[in-house]
Formats: sequence, structure tokens, C-alpha cells
Amino acid sequence: MTFSLVILPVLLFISGCCGLDFHYHDSLQTERYLLDINTTFPDITHLYSIGQSVQGRELWVMAVGSNPRQHTEGIPEFKYVANMHGNEFVGRVLLLQLIDHLVQGHRDNDPGLSRLLNSARIHIMPSMNPDGFEASDTHCVYSQGRFNHNGVDLNRNFPGFFAGHRLRRQGGEGRELEVQAMMGWLNTESFVLSANLHGGALVVSYPYDNSNGGVELVGRASVTPDNDVFVYLAKVFSYSHASMHRGNRCRDNLAFPDGITNGYQWYPLSGGMQDYNYIWAQCLELTLELSCCKYPPANELPALWKENKQALLDYIKQVHLGVKGRVLSWSGLPLEGAVVEVLGRNNLFPFKTDRRGEYYRLLLPGSYTFRVSYPGHDVLRETLSVPYGPDDYSALVHHFRLREATGVAASHAPSSGLSPTPLPWTPANGRGAVSIPRLLWVVGVWFGAGLI
Ligand code: ZN
Repeated sequence: MTFSLVILPVLLFISGCCGLDFHYHDSLQTERYLLDINTTFPDITHLYSIGQSVQGRELWVMAVGSNPRQHTEGIPEFKYVANMHGNEFVGRVLLLQLIDHLVQGHRDNDPGLSRLLNSARIHIMPSMNPDGFEASDTHCVYSQGRFNHNGVDLNRNFPGFFAGHRLRRQGGEGRELEVQAMMGWLNTESFVLSANLHGGALVVSYPYDNSNGGVELVGRASVTPDNDVFVYLAKVFSYSHASMHRGNRCRDNLAFPDGITNGYQWYPLSGGMQDYNYIWAQCLELTLELSCCKYPPANELPALWKENKQALLDYIKQVHLGVKGRVLSWSGLPLEGAVVEVLGRNNLFPFKTDRRGEYYRLLLPGSYTFRVSYPGHDVLRETLSVPYGPDDYSALVHHFRLREATGVAASHAPSSGLSPTPLPWTPANGRGAVSIPRLLWVVGVWFGAGLI
């Protein structure tokens, strides 16, 4: 008995040959595991909390990468978030396994994983709703624990663009602590690509989740200006997954061709996290529904990891789609808040440069004309030929340089020899503002407990 008590904490987490064991780790065990990994792999991991749940549990994030503690110029920020519905356990398990896989791969000098960790900073949040998780039971579908401790569905609690009340509710006030923490996180890191992991279905859902019946409504889908990219991203996951692309249905769910669906076409919802990421924070996010049963028996977890492992890794690599770089003044200073538009893509909020003057724009291979603008500078139009970046672990690098005068627009930008001074950073909700179309409130469908 004494022996068991001594070795149990170790056996709960790691066996040197085989990685993290497969069972449902509770909040304390998860915390201890993350701390242990952070101590064991300090060179490539950084453990931090973005805030606390209603009941005071830390909302832990493990950043993994070659420079895990801070952003590196040109290195895109990626994130996975699981368990925002506390009773959907599989994503939480998979993200702990993913952390383990990444650090063990680094230890073993796996060349593919090394390139991944050298080319992106990967933020992994195993649980956004630890209070709900702790309150959950084990029913496959209708289990309690979906909501946070205040009984709120966190995936309905974000500011919604398509809601008529969005203007007075776009701040964090009055929102659940877990949602406020997420919004604050999006203000402090410039994420490029993301996914949030759920259970109760087997499909990838992509924005929008809502509509006001305007131009975004195409057929039964609510289509973003980056629909081509979203569909591609969704298929990357579903086709890298062992079976999702076959469109297998769960219970009475719809059949999903290719294992993907537009969120609104599936069912409309207001206040969801993926729309918030894309519209307000210019981070492309998918919703991954990873298992028909929200709480499968623990002995099924190894097979679930096997089915999802490659898809989770392949999806991270897509952070290297498109173009990245900086917008600079003619004298080489970074321009924060410069608007980087791709002609033909009328985003509700424009993509803007961050405090370092950096931008990241996920695009499929092709030719695109950019329109880059900044107050007091000439507007620059430039056409770029964009290759496929993921195979090389890098998007196309291109810097735009703007003239501080009226008149002829600059035609080309240097990509080296610059020593800009960083500008001060003032966190703000969202990264831009546009004229506001008149909107109608569309009532989202409330599916209640048992939903995905
Ligand atoms: Zn869910």
C-alpha cells in the first residue's frame, strides 16, 4: 500500500517508454502533469494561466515551441482549446496526449516534430471549463457539466457580431470569467489559427455560426469571405482523421459530406467562440467534434488518440498557409494597426498589424492583390503569388513598406536590413473598427443540454 502511494503520482502521468497513460485525469492530476512536463522540458514548454474559473480553478495553457515564453517575429501563434463544455471529455484527453507527444518527440529528436516546434508556437489549453468537468457525470449524451458553475454555456457567451445588441456588449463586462479570460488572451496574443475541441458528433464545423440574413447567407450556409480557406482547413482535419471524412453520423445527427459543415447550416448559434475568434480577433478557428459519445469508456481512449493524432498535427501545420510579414514605414519603423486587406475578401473587421507591425494572412495558393493602408501614408496595392506553405513550414514572407506622403504608392518592400523600434502596446478589444452595417437580430436556436 505504501509502495502504491509513493509511486502512484508518477504512474498517473508518465512511463518512460510509452508516454502519458490513458485515463480521465481530474483537475488536480492535470495540473500536476502540466507542472511536471514544464519542469522536465523547460526549454520547449511554458506553462501559464490566462485566469481562473468561477470556482477559482486556473485556466492552464501549455505553450510548446522553441521559444515558448514569448512571441518570436515571424513565428505564428497557434492554439487548441478543449473542454469548454465540461462534459465533453475527449478533447481534454487528446490535448494532454498531444502535449506528451510533442515533448517526447522533441526528446527523441523527431525531425517532423522538431520542424513543427521550431516554426510555430503552439498553445494548448486542455480545459476551458474545469468547473463543469468536475461537476460532470458519465452519460454519453445527456450528462450534466456542460455549463460553467454559473449555469452558463460558454459557447453562447461571447460577443456576437450578428446580434443586434453587439455594440453595447462587445466588451468583457457581464460575461463569464472563463469567457473574459479567453477574450483577454486574444488581446495579448496575435493568434493566427485555432481549434476548439468538443464531443457529441463527428464533424468539423467552420464559421459562421450565425447570420443576420445578409450577403453572408448563401443557400442554407452563412459564408465568410475566407470560405475557401475554412473549407480547406476543415477537410485537412477530416481527411487526416481516421474516419471523419466518411461522414459517419452519430445517433440522429445529420450526415456530413466529407465530415465537415458550415456552422450555421448545421444549426445557428449566437455568442459562439469560433465566430468571435474569426470576426473580432482575426484568428481562423474551427470547431472539432471528435466523438459520438462525450464520455467514452477509458479503454477506448487509446483508439481515439490514434484516430485523431495525425489530424491534430496536420492541422497545426496549416498555420503556415498564406503570407506573413510586417508593415513598415519608409524609414523602417513597424506600423501597428495598419490594415492589410486582400481584395475580394471583405472581412467584417479588417486584418490589422499587431504592435510589432506584423501580419499573418492565411490564404490558399494563388495570386492575390493586397491593399495596405495606414493613416498619413499612401495606400499600397501589391499583387503577390502565394505558394503552399505548410510543406516548407513557412508562409510566404513579405513585408509591405508605406511612404509617409501623398502621391505615388510604393511598389516594393525590402525584406532585410531593418532595425525597427517596437511600438508601445495598448490592449484593446478587437483589433480594428469598421463602419457598422445595420443588423437584424436573428434568434439562435437553443438546443439545450445534450447538444454538442
Ligand atoms: Zn460542445
